[in-house]
Amino acid sequence: MSFGEENTVKIKKMLLAAVAAGALMLTACSGGAGGDGGGEGGGDGGLIGVAMPTKSSERWIQDGDAVKAALEDAGYSVDLQYAEDDIPTQVSQIENMITKGAEALIVASIDGTTLSEVLQTAADSDIPVIAYDRLIRDTENVDYYATFDNFLVGQQQAWTLLNGLGLTDLEGTPTEGAPAGPFNIELFAGSLDDNNAFFFFDGAMDVLQPYIDEGTLVVKSEQTDIEQAATLRWDGETAQSRMEDILTSSYSDGSEVDAVLSPYDGISRGIISALTDAGYAPGEEWPIISGQDAEVDSVKAILSGEQFATIFKDTRELAKVAADMAIAILNDEEVEVNDEETYDNGVKVVPSYLLEPVPVVQENVEPALVDTGYWTAEELGL
Ligand code: BGC
Repeated sequence: MSFGEENTVKIKKMLLAAVAAGALMLTACSGGAGGDGGGEGGGDGGLIGVAMPTKSSERWIQDGDAVKAALEDAGYSVDLQYAEDDIPTQVSQIENMITKGAEALIVASIDGTTLSEVLQTAADSDIPVIAYDRLIRDTENVDYYATFDNFLVGQQQAWTLLNGLGLTDLEGTPTEGAPAGPFNIELFAGSLDDNNAFFFFDGAMDVLQPYIDEGTLVVKSEQTDIEQAATLRWDGETAQSRMEDILTSSYSDGSEVDAVLSPYDGISRGIISALTDAGYAPGEEWPIISGQDAEVDSVKAILSGEQFATIFKDTRELAKVAADMAIAILNDEEVEVNDEETYDNGVKVVPSYLLEPVPVVQENVEPALVDTGYWTAEELGL
């Protein structure tokens, strides 16, 4: 089939664009005086608090390490804490950072709506706050937001599914002579206390809904609302049992699932377990499954054909953006943003810097993840 070759060309273009955007951004960010680890004009050695949600997912470990390294390089000391997805723990970790005299806070929230009180305490002490990857909602006390284009992440997830089904390329352009279907698809969303979950699902449905409306895609379970598709705390086991229930309730008649929208690699692994337990085996009838985060186990699953795709969000770039934001604020320099309209947190639109996500399928694992130094060939078993 020729869509493999087309993919390779498209993927190369996307990677080049992403790398170019990253390079531009890094040049722009390091243009200001100081704060870039060059030894002079850098940090004042003050403390910056970094609150991360959990170590149970690889990406947050990499995020935390990368933010810490970037700030330390610029001369700051860092209090990096993980809350194991427990909201009161995260709140008290942030309280502690404030007590210890943190000059700025970088926060990847567990539940984006639960930090209003502690961030009021931060504001009372003039401590600037940067929302990291996940928007902090319902408070005016969040200064900037560093993230990826989350709606595009959702669209890309949907395009990877359509691509795997032979319907479009990875940017959603219809394939000539595409099969008519109908294809059975099931939908999973992330945790409803995470603002990103809505952006991912809305982006994906923006792409999938027309195909559902025309009957090319069929959601046999009829569970098409985000509330039905949601997965509390992005938990893989929760997703596994929902997939098991769907297989029992909607596919006991001998019909098969052809595609599954999954918003995150950990959820994809839960879905894969449910399918395997139900007797599906990788090969011709194995469904097309999406993902996000390029976690090692899931990249291996892409290489072995169990997962079709993931969305790569380079946490090193995100960490750099967030660290540069904090450093700029503390040095009274202009903070670079590229979006001032998308992220309304319920109280205000938070000025944001959005990075570009990159879809990864078998063909571009090496250029996207190995050549960029994100994972080594050895880690991926290549
Ligand atoms: C992040 C995703 C991640 C998910 C689960 C989201 O807020 O943007 O990259 O897969 O949380 O950790």
